[in-house]
Amino acid sequence: MRFIKWWFPLAAAVLLAVAALVQEQDAGALAQALTPGVLLIDPGHGGADGGAVAPDGTLESDINLDIALRLEALCRFWGVDAVLTRSGETIDYPPEADSIAKKKVADQHARLALVNGTEGAVLVSIHQNNYPAASPHGIQVFYGAAAGSDALAALTQANLTGQLCPGNRRVAAPADKNIYLMKNAKCPAVLVECGFLSNPEDLQDLQSGSYRMRLAAVLLGSYLQYTRGLSA
Ligand SMILES: [Zn+2]
Repeated sequence: MRFIKWWFPLAAAVLLAVAALVQEQDAGALAQALTPGVLLIDPGHGGADGGAVAPDGTLESDINLDIALRLEALCRFWGVDAVLTRSGETIDYPPEADSIAKKKVADQHARLALVNGTEGAVLVSIHQNNYPAASPHGIQVFYGAAAGSDALAALTQANLTGQLCPGNRRVAAPADKNIYLMKNAKCPAVLVECGFLSNPEDLQDLQSGSYRMRLAAVLLGSYLQYTRGLSA
């Protein structure tokens, strides 16, 4: 039963989002969705670092991982090469990383080595936003320093806004220079803040499996468009 429950919404999400994004511009092209690149999926935080925490205790790292695993499943479904920087909530740290700060640094170094060691990588880092006040909401895409990142971010932002939050006025923006992966990735890289854990409506969306599947499908559709030179 779990198998059936998983694949029905998956197929529906793919038809609605990926096909809409890809096929309308290039009919019959889904067979060519076997792109030569590798989608490097980075679920932010994990292990000793739970990231932001929602008012109800929901951890950012858990939502990030769930979206990432759905994205990876969609990639397998379409025969798109994908690699995760982590696939669970446990992270193996080197023995010398004996504090949370050192663990975070070691983890970031390991993720960057994976990204920069993967030929043809396109990095999509998945995060959730947080703010002291409850009112800020919406999806925003940030981009890294490497060439192509800004174009991927603009495309992804347009698709996410159009498919998931029409009326969202947030625009793609350069990532803060303190964000290690965005600063140092040598491949096109974006960081997607999928919503605000501090906003009740965003949090409700992000706690829904079907919403997370739609997010994953739009991220895959955006990657396919980008790697094939299409526009939003
Ligand atoms: Zn985060």
